[in-house]
Amino acid sequence: MLKTHGCGELRLDHVGEAVTLAGWVNRRRDMGGVIFIDLRDFSGKIQVVADSGRTIEAFEAAEQIRSEYVLQVKGTVQRRMEGQENPNLPTGAVEVIAAEVIVLNPSKVTPIEIAKDAGEDESLRLKYRYLDLRREKMQRNILIRHKAVKYIRDFLDARGFIEIETPILFKSTPEGARDYLVPSRVHPGKFYALPQSPQQLKQLLMVAGYERYFQIARCFRDEDQRADRQPEFTQLDMEISFVERDDVLDLIEEMMVGMAKTVSIVPLAWEAFPRLSFKEAMERFGTDRPDLRFGMELVDLSDIMANSAFRVFAENVRDGKPVKAICAKGCGGYSRKQTGELEEIARTHGAKGLAWLAIHPETGEIRGPIAKFFTTEQLAAIMDRMEAEPGDLVLISSDKRSMVYNVLGEMRMEMGRRLGLTAKKELAFCWVIDFPLFEEEVVDGHFAPSHHMFTAPKQEHIHLLDTEPGQVLSEQYDLVCNGFEVAGGSIRIHDRPLQRKIMELIGFSIEEAKDQFGHMLEAFEYGAPPHGGIAPGIDRVVALMAGEPNIREVMAFPKNQNATDLMADAPSVVSKKQMDELHIQPAGKAVVK
Ligand code: ASP
Repeated sequence: MLKTHGCGELRLDHVGEAVTLAGWVNRRRDMGGVIFIDLRDFSGKIQVVADSGRTIEAFEAAEQIRSEYVLQVKGTVQRRMEGQENPNLPTGAVEVIAAEVIVLNPSKVTPIEIAKDAGEDESLRLKYRYLDLRREKMQRNILIRHKAVKYIRDFLDARGFIEIETPILFKSTPEGARDYLVPSRVHPGKFYALPQSPQQLKQLLMVAGYERYFQIARCFRDEDQRADRQPEFTQLDMEISFVERDDVLDLIEEMMVGMAKTVSIVPLAWEAFPRLSFKEAMERFGTDRPDLRFGMELVDLSDIMANSAFRVFAENVRDGKPVKAICAKGCGGYSRKQTGELEEIARTHGAKGLAWLAIHPETGEIRGPIAKFFTTEQLAAIMDRMEAEPGDLVLISSDKRSMVYNVLGEMRMEMGRRLGLTAKKELAFCWVIDFPLFEEEVVDGHFAPSHHMFTAPKQEHIHLLDTEPGQVLSEQYDLVCNGFEVAGGSIRIHDRPLQRKIMELIGFSIEEAKDQFGHMLEAFEYGAPPHGGIAPGIDRVVALMAGEPNIREVMAFPKNQNATDLMADAPSVVSKKQMDELHIQPAGKAVVK
């Protein structure tokens, strides 16, 4: 090795030792006669002193160096002078007196400064990702990721799971998103698909008798890149035979708690994850991925509104449309402009409007465009139900149930952000269970699976498939943390006739089903065991545990929000020859070399 120690390893125990270090110049300070270099490697930083009074060669060499030069330093560890210690640095009690400074490689001035985060545009960070990754915070994040994945592997290995790789070149899987396709050279006109997840393969492994499977699996989904999505991402993909729902939930809960305690810099809010039914999550939080770091729950006002003089609400209630509200603490002083903003946000989520009532912080007077429609008693009853106090703002929505949930769920998050409640540094995990098997919306008489088509209906609801499919609840479960769905899974169908029936309800003809899933349906006829699984998203879990707001901060080489790799400039144009070999022709706006 070109070094005897890591820069970050040196402590008072090493005082007097001769060491050889190698790393990057984090900072260099010239004090005239003495030059201080903060030398950095993956293990941390150490102060190196090149003193003209001691070793003139080392001093002269240090005069030439600049930030990010790669150095080898030979010298002796000494205790820093009293008062010169740096308590913020693990190596801050010592320094290395350089006897020799060798430049292993110089560096141009870097386009982003490594030693400090200057808040550059993310595109610059992504273009020079190898420099961005040199930064302390990024190295910490990537290390947390490594530790998380290692924790998972050790945890599952100790419980009899084995890791099995499944193909990246596979067949289109119907999981809701668009596939990335790979044209085949040897089979003109045919395509492989990159897996959206190894769903079918892991179920086939259960048929094959590998009772406890997992894989750190890359998944690919060609979706529009809204917000914080990546075209490729990593899942801990798992499947287990002979399990029931709670076996999976208990196992994952134990793993997440252990992992958080081992790697997370953000503490757990609780160790026993609350379990909410889909219905309860929607009723209380307006969403199936509730952020439980704060309350501000949805409260039903329908009964009070039914008897009020505000016709819109009264009529809605008569038509079965609820009136619900949330109470934003301390926002009662909002101006017309601010409440106008909130109404606008509600509209972007599909609402016709948003009603509000504000209680004056001092006088307790209730104002708002609809206030005049209510009697004093009704207003008091509303505020009582909302547990609203002077200074609070009550936001009210009435529409069809799903719209009310959507709007108030979004408003709850908006107010949570405004009030700093979503900034709370803790991990508030919960399970959401008892999902409907199908989405509410039925298109052309066909149902869309709420999870995917392999999810089992609850045993006691199977009989409803013929009469009221919309009422059927499933064995799906989601793990949610701080408003993010961090894992989804289900107990699966292992019975061919039931699987066929679900496919029919979804709208697959017998031919289509055979063509796309013939292998699955056939496999189910050869002794498929009851099984279930789950797939936590590694990127999101690690981002939460590293206290990062987006998953790109915990991925070494992410794409930007436009699905572009800015560093390598991918995707890129290919030659006509390459396209010919793949039997494809440029179409539309396509360009060829
Ligand atoms: N394959 C599913 C997904 O990616 C997870 C599962 O059901 O195990 O969402």
